[in-house]
Amino acid sequence: MKWPAPTQRLDALVVGAGLGGLCMIHLLRAEGLSVKGVERAGGVGGTWYWNRYPGCRCDVESIDYSYQFSEELQQDWAWTERYAAQPEILAYAEHVATRFALHPLIQLETGVRRARWDDERQRWLVETDRGDVFDTRFLIMATGCLSAANTPAFPGRDEFAGRTFHTGLWPQDGVDFTGRRVGVIGTGSSGIQVIPFLAQQAAELTVFQRTANFSVPARNRPVDPDEVARVKASYADHRRRARQQPAAFGPDHPRHSDSVLAATPEERRRRFEEHWQLGGFMFLGAFGDIVLSEEANWHAAEFVRGKIRAIVADPATAELLCPKGIIGCKRLCADSGYYETFNRDNVRLVDVSAHPIERFTATGLVTGGTEHALDDVVFATGFDAMTGSLLRIDIRGRDDLSLADKWAAGPLTYLGLMVSGFPNLFTMTGPGSPSVLANLVTGVEQHAEFIRDLIAWLRAEDAVAVEAGIEAERDWVHTVNVRSERTLYPRCNSWYLGANVPGKPRVFMPYVGFPDYTAKLDTIRLGRFPGFELRCQPGRAT
Ligand code: NAP
Repeated sequence: MKWPAPTQRLDALVVGAGLGGLCMIHLLRAEGLSVKGVERAGGVGGTWYWNRYPGCRCDVESIDYSYQFSEELQQDWAWTERYAAQPEILAYAEHVATRFALHPLIQLETGVRRARWDDERQRWLVETDRGDVFDTRFLIMATGCLSAANTPAFPGRDEFAGRTFHTGLWPQDGVDFTGRRVGVIGTGSSGIQVIPFLAQQAAELTVFQRTANFSVPARNRPVDPDEVARVKASYADHRRRARQQPAAFGPDHPRHSDSVLAATPEERRRRFEEHWQLGGFMFLGAFGDIVLSEEANWHAAEFVRGKIRAIVADPATAELLCPKGIIGCKRLCADSGYYETFNRDNVRLVDVSAHPIERFTATGLVTGGTEHALDDVVFATGFDAMTGSLLRIDIRGRDDLSLADKWAAGPLTYLGLMVSGFPNLFTMTGPGSPSVLANLVTGVEQHAEFIRDLIAWLRAEDAVAVEAGIEAERDWVHTVNVRSERTLYPRCNSWYLGANVPGKPRVFMPYVGFPDYTAKLDTIRLGRFPGFELRCQPGRAT
């Protein structure tokens, strides 16, 4: 397809104005680059713009889930809750965009359709759905890891006469479910957060569960002013210690390295109970081998199943809610009253593993030959994670190679940051980086700083393009695979593996090991970017 003439020339175009894009735009402008952001939403905030469903909140503590690039910002901003709710994080993103004067650089309601590398001019052409054609030296994809909503193609879906919603595309003005018969499909983190809220409003709530998930109470509460004062007195030190943690948060969380299997039954129970009370991800810190050994994992899983049986009054419902698999293999959920919700008279659990959803009708949906009458359906069916938001754009690198073809058997990257064959294209928290396995604000900031430094190096060398070397990419993909194989992660059907999207290659996408990754980036930076190859202006030697 022919390309129209460019409408704007830039040094850098950043796609996405979530927490990654905002930080990237800020850092590149400070380098003196002409930079612009495009964002398909009507405001900044990314994930936190779209996921407005009731109950949506972060599962990383607010003191950690925030930027560290500005000491003034981190001192000034005051979180109200231990785990910030969506409106507060969205307000934070807005505050950052205003405080650092980023709004004028961001074009909203603009989605990127296609991008093509022009090897002769060593520049990208990028076309949007608003008719812009950007001619840019650098193209930074800050499109998010969990931003391409996934709605399964249920037969007859269009026949349904009621209202439908996806948790990841929630209406801006909210939804009133009072007096309605509501169905929720999906019991991942989003489903587990929204279900208690829907149950309070709806006349009847039917939860369609395919796979039971492990959830630990989040134990959200207002922030403790003394704790905040302590952290703020030496925030830089808190951040430094957080970066040394497996998931880049909670440097003061109790974390044990001993084996479940070495503990006596009493000690196991005591330790699991203590970490259950701490809440959320902290549960997995009870012992050192919960996500490494299947036998150790079984004890942790059995403890949680015991909790579910104790909370849920109806034994048959409790059994259905008890997950069979490995705890922590899929992303552990953090809830506020999820299991308790099934003790309400207006809530019903339907197992769709035994009898999958056959089809929608005008008035509901059918499972195992039974029609469930519904006014509204909420899809909490997740995302085409990590690669979805990139592959929904037609991206073509050198020799017209498409990213979709390059990644046909699974994503290939160097450090999750660059792809061989795609010069000057950067993927923030891309597959092959710790991304979704670590605090994502720290992750995007780390990538924004590295991309800034890589571009600064390129400019200092008087080069115009940088690209991941093919061998560096191959070695890195191997490292990522070896890392995940040492864990229990590949053993379940998670979105980390793309297993939730029919036809998606089954490859474990994130890199396990945030602290090692940080050290690796530091070494690469100090060593003048081995694995990255520079190209000078055409006609000049490298
Ligand atoms: P998800 O974890 O992928 O869960 C999707 C759910 O939909 C699963 O229960 C899945 O069942 C079900 N499902 C998908 N297709 C189905 C079908 N055809 N029939 C029946 N059920 C179907 O998605 P999510 O809950 O949106 O969470 C995604 C990630 O976003 C989380 O893991 C987390 O990283 C992030 N998130 C974080 C928070 C937080 O910070 N607290 C909140 C929300 C989301 P199966 O398991 O059987 O596939």
